[in-house]
Amino acid sequence: MEVISDRSIYKFSAGNEPVLQVPSGTPVRIHTKDCFSNQLRRPEDKMEALDWDRINPATGPISVEGAEPGDILKVTIQKIELDEKGTVVSGEELGILGGILKDVHTKIIPIRDGKAIFDSRTEIPVRPMIGVIGVAPEREEINTGTPGRHGGNMDNTMVAEGASLYFNVEVPGALFACGDVHAVMGDGEIGVSGLEIPAVIDVVLEVVKGKSIEGPMLENQDCWSAIASAEDLEDAVQAATENMFRFLKSRLEREEGEIAMLMSLVGQLQFCQVVDPLKTVRFIMPKQYVEECVL
Ligand code: CA
Ligand code: ZN
Repeated sequence: MEVISDRSIYKFSAGNEPVLQVPSGTPVRIHTKDCFSNQLRRPEDKMEALDWDRINPATGPISVEGAEPGDILKVTIQKIELDEKGTVVSGEELGILGGILKDVHTKIIPIRDGKAIFDSRTEIPVRPMIGVIGVAPEREEINTGTPGRHGGNMDNTMVAEGASLYFNVEVPGALFACGDVHAVMGDGEIGVSGLEIPAVIDVVLEVVKGKSIEGPMLENQDCWSAIASAEDLEDAVQAATENMFRFLKSRLEREEGEIAMLMSLVGQLQFCQVVDPLKTVRFIMPKQYVEECVL
């Protein structure tokens, strides 16, 4: 297996030199730092001392041979192995409660036996997920703290072991990178951080030739999901729903009206995060109602 660990990027960009080039179908092991570049790992590490130029690092990028604009990159997450402790913050000007809270609070939380030990009273089962994951956009450079059509900082709890993500390839090689693992995070990420933690991620990167999608899509054993980001939640809701509708319309032998009915009856519209520069939502469609659907 190919292993990478020694390169952090802070923007998804066509100009990033690949740290590794692999044939399609190659498993890769990726070591990631937490979203603070591991600067808050001890109780005495203070938020005030943070170097903000090193926030939201992603490891990579990886160039996948044969990936060209007009193709899709499929990323299958096989494993997310967590470090032994993570960091969570809350406080003034951070997230939805930032206007109410005073000061900034940091907590280092050990992980033991699959649980995050919040304190002596409260243990939380871990649900490892990847916050930042994506490919280089064709034109602009997008900082790794911002989500978009290229993926990026989507902070989607479904980006977890067993899931596959699909991104349109926009530059030769796709230039895939990921980072910002959370041991656990609630939908919305309302305090602006999950349980931020270094990790080791095993993925398989595959090129799907000659196909494209409306925006980032996720598939797991149970469902298809369209992911969309926008400045306003309502615009993100509209985009995720429309993207799912178009995805289904070109794959199901059903009338438009019926597809909308099914989406209304069994589809789930959910928040990914509501605290990043763009907000991210997902539309989930259970596979059992759209069995003939393939990429
Ligand atoms: Ca994040
Ligand atoms: Zn994070």
